[in-house]
Amino acid sequence: MTPAIEFRNLQGSALHDFPYPPKRRKCPHYALVSITESGCCIHKCPVCYARAYLWSADDRLVLYQNLPEKIDRELSQLQIAPPLYLSQITDCLQPVSEIRELTVKIIRVILRHQVSFHLVTKSADGPFELIERIPELLTYPYWYLSMTIEATPEKQEITSTFASPIEQRLWTLRKLCQMKMAITARTDPFLLGLMKAEDALWLVQQIAKTGVKHIVSSTGYFNRISMRRVLEVLEKSKWRENVPQVLKAYRCNEELLISIDPKKRFTVDWQTKVRYHRWLRQKVESLGMTYAVCQELPKEFDSVGIRHCEGIERNFVHFKDKDGVFCPISDCFGDCLRSCPTSPKPPCGKKELLYQYPYRLKTLKMFNKRRQEKLFLPSGC
Ligand code: SF4
Ligand code: SF4
Repeated sequence: MTPAIEFRNLQGSALHDFPYPPKRRKCPHYALVSITESGCCIHKCPVCYARAYLWSADDRLVLYQNLPEKIDRELSQLQIAPPLYLSQITDCLQPVSEIRELTVKIIRVILRHQVSFHLVTKSADGPFELIERIPELLTYPYWYLSMTIEATPEKQEITSTFASPIEQRLWTLRKLCQMKMAITARTDPFLLGLMKAEDALWLVQQIAKTGVKHIVSSTGYFNRISMRRVLEVLEKSKWRENVPQVLKAYRCNEELLISIDPKKRFTVDWQTKVRYHRWLRQKVESLGMTYAVCQELPKEFDSVGIRHCEGIERNFVHFKDKDGVFCPISDCFGDCLRSCPTSPKPPCGKKELLYQYPYRLKTLKMFNKRRQEKLFLPSGC
């Protein structure tokens, strides 16, 4: 049953960067879009971090109805537009008509401004409905979709119980690749202790068969709320004998779970992460794909030569020209720490972006008239 739906107006800025500072930062500069309050998602994945914050609203769906107008206004004020990201705290294609409607409205605004975006989903039918409602997406050059396929069909009941079945998600990937859409896959969080090497191999082999060319993975992290959810679903399942292995892998003492600091994160130890990612990267690359680790290891553990962790070169940062039209900055994907095309003299003209993590909106807004005239842009802009 769909939980109660509430419509609210978001206060403050709609577009915002990841909060992480430059030290050990891996995520590029993004314009994140939270279309709901954190964790409002009917998929209710036990592993979900967005449902496990103290402020998460996972018993209802709280939608920010004013986002299309707000994003429209904010994009109008920007000189530099990082790629938009829908959404790191909910699934914007989950099968709830109000959420899909809001996503469609937001994407129409994005297309009107001609800037980059990507979305992440576990919905198998959502991408087709989206393309049917916005057929321009078939040829729009500045977007891609990322599908999460984090478990084998037998083990999905533990990781994403109510999301689309894994086989259907794979089918969707295959169809979208046949339609020549730009697609990547994520396999995170790959729940160590439950998921085994043969499961990881099965996943990447199935993904390779769909035509996808880039995979992002991580072992993830849990707090006491999400770990409790994982343990509860495990204990009720045929995988219950894996409970001690999961606890061991994430260095968690079950008896202390109730009393432990809610901010404490349970993670896999460094050496295990290094072994897992080195091994998986080699397998992924041998299947003709590239690989990146989401956050938990530095960029040296990613495939050599990728320009940013998402691996797809369609999410350009855009710069507003003197006529007020957003144009893609050649070779710039917002990963200023890893791959600025001409660091230390960036083509965007904003040296601050090389070290300002998270960026300040003021930096993206300051207009640089000289740069607007001189900027090197790809032909056609
Ligand atoms: S689909 Fe994503 S946002 Fe929704 S519950 Fe699962 S992990 Fe959380
Ligand atoms: S040109 Fe360089 S500094 Fe400017 S946004 Fe792109 S990567 Fe960052």
